[in-house]
Amino acid sequence: MICLGIEGTAHTVGIGIVRDRPFGILSNVSSMYRPPSGGIHPRDAANHHASVFTDILQKALERANIKFNDIDLVAFSIGPGLGPCLRTAATAARSLSLYLKKPLIGVNHCIAHLEIGRAVTGASDPVLLYVSGGNTQVIAFMNGRYRVFGETLDIGIGNCLDKFGREAGMPFPAGPKIEEIARKGRKYVGLPYSVKGMDVSFSGILTAAINSLKRESMEDVCFSMQETCFSMLTEVAERAMAHTEKEEVLLGGGVASNERLRNMVRKMAEERGAKFYCPPGELLVDNGAMIAWTAILMKKSGIEMDIDETAIKQNFRTDEVDVTWRH
Ligand code: AMP
Ligand code: MG
Repeated sequence: MICLGIEGTAHTVGIGIVRDRPFGILSNVSSMYRPPSGGIHPRDAANHHASVFTDILQKALERANIKFNDIDLVAFSIGPGLGPCLRTAATAARSLSLYLKKPLIGVNHCIAHLEIGRAVTGASDPVLLYVSGGNTQVIAFMNGRYRVFGETLDIGIGNCLDKFGREAGMPFPAGPKIEEIARKGRKYVGLPYSVKGMDVSFSGILTAAINSLKRESMEDVCFSMQETCFSMLTEVAERAMAHTEKEEVLLGGGVASNERLRNMVRKMAEERGAKFYCPPGELLVDNGAMIAWTAILMKKSGIEMDIDETAIKQNFRTDEVDVTWRH
């Protein structure tokens, strides 16, 4: 089976073409919207997605070296995400499905991060620490569903870093720049470590970090932000592993590109005698291949969707999905 998957929940629009037997990511093309200044306006991101769509579709087909007719299944990210972006991807997917007369499946974006990680890293039943711009969740499979064991109570970790960066004059996305600057940090500046039960919160740290720039160096503040936020994430991931008795931890989301975060989570796993997994960069960030692959799993487990079941779900919860493809 060959599936064309469209990702479009937020700043990135992507198309991935995936084959199941033998497993292969035939192509995975994406384009990220970068606002000229300030934050992302959902409508501007959606316009960007629409304007580059045919171009990346062509590239995806070319790189996969297939023709339209070779596609057996069309998939798209049905949620969670920004309404205008989701609608753009959904509309494109519906048109393609009707035109090709091939089935259409809407995929939960967070679950797609986990499934692509399982497919390419060898992790079989991991706790996923999903750290992206808008989302921050600790997810694991239990009793037929992917359940959220901990999550942010306010903004996503990537959003926290990007907002701090914007205040400090860095271009979007600020995460990589903060990582680079943090390497030169020497002193830990106290920031409010906020773990509440199994959940985390970043808005207080964001405000405190911005305020501390008046007294402390940029290097020390970036370093301290990373140390604080990443320790919190490592702590809740570890507690989820202990609670679920799982022996694998998997990273997903753009913030997992960060070496410091990876090292913290890797060390935590080692100390528990557990295994650490992290997919390659192009599969960590939002991408179409993860959507295509998850749709293949869904389709092969018997899931079918009528066009009228493909309405977008902006607040789609991870644990709403009946995971028919795992036992
Ligand atoms: P995603 O939403 O999963 O596509 O990931 C995008 C987010 O990842 C943005 O908020 C970026 O700032 C963040 N990001 C990317 N690279 C890094 C990095 N090296 N360190 C920290 N955050 C990063
Ligand atoms: Mg994502």
